[in-house]
Amino acid sequence: MPKDLEALLKEERIFKPTKDIVEKSNITQWMNKYKIKNYDELLKKANDNPDWFWDDLAKELEWFEPYKNVLKWDPPHAEWFLEGKFNIAHNALDRHIKNGKGDKIAYIWEGEDGKTRKITYHQLWCDVNKFANALRELGIGKGDTVSIYLPMIPELPVAMLACAKIGAVHSVVFSGFWAKAFQERVNDSKSKVAITTDGFTRRGKLIPLKENVDDILQNTPTIKNLIVINNAGIDVKMHEGRDLWWHEITENMSEECETEVMDSEDPLFILYTSGTTGKPKGVVHVHGGYAVGIYTTLKFVFDLNEDDIWWCAADIGWITGHSYIVYAPLLLGVTSIIFEGTPDYPDPGRLWKIVEGYKVNVFYTAPTTIRMFMKYGPKWPQKYDLSSIRLLGSVGEPINPEAWVWYYKYIGREKCPIMDTWWQTETGMHLITPLPISPLKPGSAVMPFPTVQADILDDMGRSLTEKGGHLVIKTPWPSMLRTIYRNPQRYIKTYWSAFKNMYLSGDVARKDSDGYFWIQGREDDVLSVAGHRIGTAEVESALVSYECVAEAAVVGKPDEIKGEEIAAFVILKDNFKPTQELKDTLKYHVRVEIGPVATPKYISFVDDLPKTRSGKIMRRVIKAKVKGEDVGDTSTLANPEAVDGLDRAL
Ligand code: ATP
Ligand code: MG
Repeated sequence: MPKDLEALLKEERIFKPTKDIVEKSNITQWMNKYKIKNYDELLKKANDNPDWFWDDLAKELEWFEPYKNVLKWDPPHAEWFLEGKFNIAHNALDRHIKNGKGDKIAYIWEGEDGKTRKITYHQLWCDVNKFANALRELGIGKGDTVSIYLPMIPELPVAMLACAKIGAVHSVVFSGFWAKAFQERVNDSKSKVAITTDGFTRRGKLIPLKENVDDILQNTPTIKNLIVINNAGIDVKMHEGRDLWWHEITENMSEECETEVMDSEDPLFILYTSGTTGKPKGVVHVHGGYAVGIYTTLKFVFDLNEDDIWWCAADIGWITGHSYIVYAPLLLGVTSIIFEGTPDYPDPGRLWKIVEGYKVNVFYTAPTTIRMFMKYGPKWPQKYDLSSIRLLGSVGEPINPEAWVWYYKYIGREKCPIMDTWWQTETGMHLITPLPISPLKPGSAVMPFPTVQADILDDMGRSLTEKGGHLVIKTPWPSMLRTIYRNPQRYIKTYWSAFKNMYLSGDVARKDSDGYFWIQGREDDVLSVAGHRIGTAEVESALVSYECVAEAAVVGKPDEIKGEEIAAFVILKDNFKPTQELKDTLKYHVRVEIGPVATPKYISFVDDLPKTRSGKIMRRVIKAKVKGEDVGDTSTLANPEAVDGLDRAL
């Protein structure tokens, strides 16, 4: 068995939240109710009695009929809130209307071109009801699947909530994916109806989505109808008998619609994973447990209050958007921003202008975005008043400590704690994450959420401290995936067969002696150099800690003697020149920061790195290029031109 490298980068900075943040936080209020004095006691009490914890929070939502038991755990299958009757759309909308909150703004939508719309809970409820009625007229009901292929326009959450309302299962596909990827997901999910738009603009360029969909619909035998939203106002050809305009089928529908009474365990949606490491998996989530898990984490991790303006700057087409743009904020009844555009269009001030304009209080983004702003430099955020921000978040990839500190300094103005939330499409909710009361270490996702027991194991299943190993979860959580759609064997094989009764995350991580977790990368990407296993994150973080580097990706290049040599691909910040001397300096820098074994043998400067549409570096593609192999399935790749850039750099 290869020796694991002991803690590589030693990050010793600690950031403690202020007394004010701690005292006012939702988690402290909740702890006071049970006379829990501190974080340690909270974790202990919740871990000793998870049913008590989740039962307490589930009761903040409304059940048509109460559940009989909180959990039935028959590994690898968990059922939560057994025999409870529930609908997530009832809790996200109907409940607020009933409680007189209809006039509150649910979403502030801003289009790429700067157009804005404010949508109240009442308006959203009416739109959802009308569309839900239209779907019912088309014969869609409980258990039917609907594929949704839409950009970040208000109709996207409307379509999702309408499906939920009538018990249909939605499968949202990123509008940035190629139509071929949509075809594959429509066929896997056996959808009867697909929803798309005539077109939309991305960085000012028109994408004719309906036309792209037309090309693949002859290969999707289960689709009976395609519903088209008139968004860009361009001419499209409508297929007689198949295609329907959204505005026509909703026009005469009632603004009221009966909500389907669902069982807690009935499926709510299928979502395919980002496809960073291979063929996407159709992850299935359900109404009851999923709702309770995301409601609780948004309330406690991002600490939202009644009057907060919340901005999760992700795309709804991936799990972060499903959980924390669409469902959880509506369950909490807060106001959220939905932004259609991209962070640096028309200029790199775009996000910060939105923060200033709407006085955003809590802001959540991905490391890829932060590193992009590091590249552009602090002058962009410095042009705007960001003083409304109270709390920050990060998700999607390990955040390099230098990127963390940059985010803390230039966006958080050294006042806002950063919630580095580790979770997956499969987990539905944050699993390893700080709370606003946690002392923070840059680059660490801190500790498992209350009731969640995580561990780091070696290949033999022994628990490790201060060494990298398999990140596993030992206890079920309410919003865990229930299965892989139409592939129960893959569910068992992928997540539950490495260690008995433990969920295998597929990531490697390290736990330090304070119990803090450090995600080191994906199992598939781990480097093996001269018998040492090295996670990608630490070498990349060492590179990013050098002042002129904005972003880096490392992969292993096969080597007869060492097994693998490290090849690094580096993006420089604006105004720095790629030279041979700089390559040598960077090699030396990593050597000093981590040690000789982690020194990259090859360094290439590139303008861009291949990424998924959710902004994650696809090391699998880089590795294939380095090895001179075929790059395989690239249907989830956002920027194919980056692959050509690699060719030039190699
Ligand atoms: P696939 O499973 O198809 O390869 P994917 O894993 O990229 O795709 P997601 O479910 O969107 O699909 O991403 C989850 C993964 O993202 C995690 O397993 C982890 O590798 C990474 N990740 C998410 N949040 C964090 C975080 N805060 N720190 C480190 N890594 C993170
Ligand atoms: Mg994954």
